[in-house]
Amino acid sequence: MDNTITKSDFIRYLECPAYFWFFKKKPEVLENLELSDFDKELIKNGQEVELWARKLFTKGVLVESREDAAIKETQKYLDEGKKSIFQATFQVDNLYFMVDIWEWDEINNYWIINEVKATSGQEKKKDQHLYDATFQYIVAKMAGLSVGRVNLMELNKEFRKKGEINARQLIQVTDITEQVNELEEEVNLMIPDMKRIFENEHEPLPCECIYKSRNNHCPAFKYLHPNVPDYSVHDIVRIGLSTKRLETLIEESCFSIEDVPEDFKLTKYQRNHVEVTQTQNPIIEPHEIKQKLEELVYPLYFLDYETYPTAVPIYDGCVPYQQVPFQFSLHILREPNGELEHYEYLHTDPHTHPMIALANELMKVISDKGSIVIWNKKFEGKCHEDIADLLPEHAEVFHGYNQRFFDLMEIFSKNNYVHPDFRGGFSIKDILPVLVPEMSYKNLNVRDGVMAMNAWKKMMFEVEDEEEKTKMQNDLLEYCKLDTLAMVKIFEALQTL
Ligand code: SF4
Repeated sequence: MDNTITKSDFIRYLECPAYFWFFKKKPEVLENLELSDFDKELIKNGQEVELWARKLFTKGVLVESREDAAIKETQKYLDEGKKSIFQATFQVDNLYFMVDIWEWDEINNYWIINEVKATSGQEKKKDQHLYDATFQYIVAKMAGLSVGRVNLMELNKEFRKKGEINARQLIQVTDITEQVNELEEEVNLMIPDMKRIFENEHEPLPCECIYKSRNNHCPAFKYLHPNVPDYSVHDIVRIGLSTKRLETLIEESCFSIEDVPEDFKLTKYQRNHVEVTQTQNPIIEPHEIKQKLEELVYPLYFLDYETYPTAVPIYDGCVPYQQVPFQFSLHILREPNGELEHYEYLHTDPHTHPMIALANELMKVISDKGSIVIWNKKFEGKCHEDIADLLPEHAEVFHGYNQRFFDLMEIFSKNNYVHPDFRGGFSIKDILPVLVPEMSYKNLNVRDGVMAMNAWKKMMFEVEDEEEKTKMQNDLLEYCKLDTLAMVKIFEALQTL
């Protein structure tokens, strides 16, 4: 299959023709190609949504083989007169493509391409879906197949689970033929260009990402720019929003943050980041921090949730991709220098709703007075809004919790404390090693939110061995507990300034 161009290659070409070339011709120079746990979860979501979409075609048959054998298997089904083929696979010249659901329209006598995506109408992904579908439409026509319509099948963002899921309500089908027709001319020009790049034996030039912030770089960046340090001007906070500034720095061959001139115009946050990196001296505003800490009202509740989002909701009352809180850790400090109390909850019953049980447990331990200290109020606040929607009888309580929030992260995100070793970040994991170096996540089996999410899913729905389950539960409890204890210790460190 090395000589073929697939639909995924086309997506790569759309992102960057040079990256497409490196992926196909020189993959050995690419870095970090391994999928993260998060990426793997996205793939699983896609597969799950596809299974639901297939339920709309009761007589559909699945092409199970891959590569050349898949083309033959598809042809076999076509010869047998099958009307709905899942993962129907075709090849024209060296263009190879697989249609999620290939459907025959009896009334109009043409084929329909049904492109299934695990998204729920997000605008930023829409363009990519349209180009992707247009590529398939063009190649199908090149193969002499009569295609009359292209549908996009996505999760219905209005869907809210209530009892058994009905695939017709979960999956939203949108006819995108008109948009595909509008893109046809453009994509028709891309295909020969992609083939030309593919046939080129020389490395493509130039690589424009030297002018873009780190999150735009593909795995070829380091190979293409060996003189750019791993931590460079591309990592200056929010530099992606100041492209002109980044361009000027690059034009002046200023790659290292250490070399950014003192009089170079930057935003306040960017200047702080550059200054602490250059001087290695932190910026600390003790007066502002003290003032902020004085807003706190005892008892202090240090609260953190772990959540699990699924493309297809598991629990009643939830919508696609809703973050379902399944665990909390709560440290309580009832008075200054008082004794620290700890409470926690981890949902372990696969037959009941985690949000209901968690909400009930939380209400038992949080009184109606005192600040609720969290790290990133947007996230915890949304959890509370969702609980309030699910349990209207407790809505007032959970909305009230949001009014009592004290977001400890803001001391760092608003630059009252900037340290060179934060490297522009302000997650607990960026801050803790600097302020409380004796505490660490390193020795834990669960070390971040994505790991917690995966561990919980396994513990709840996959692992049967009781001993293993208990071990996973302990790992989860230990992780979440460290998150709130870390907040307590960071708070204590700030008090000493
Ligand atoms: S670093 Fe950017 S411009 Fe360079 S090859 Fe990768 S995606 Fe393309």
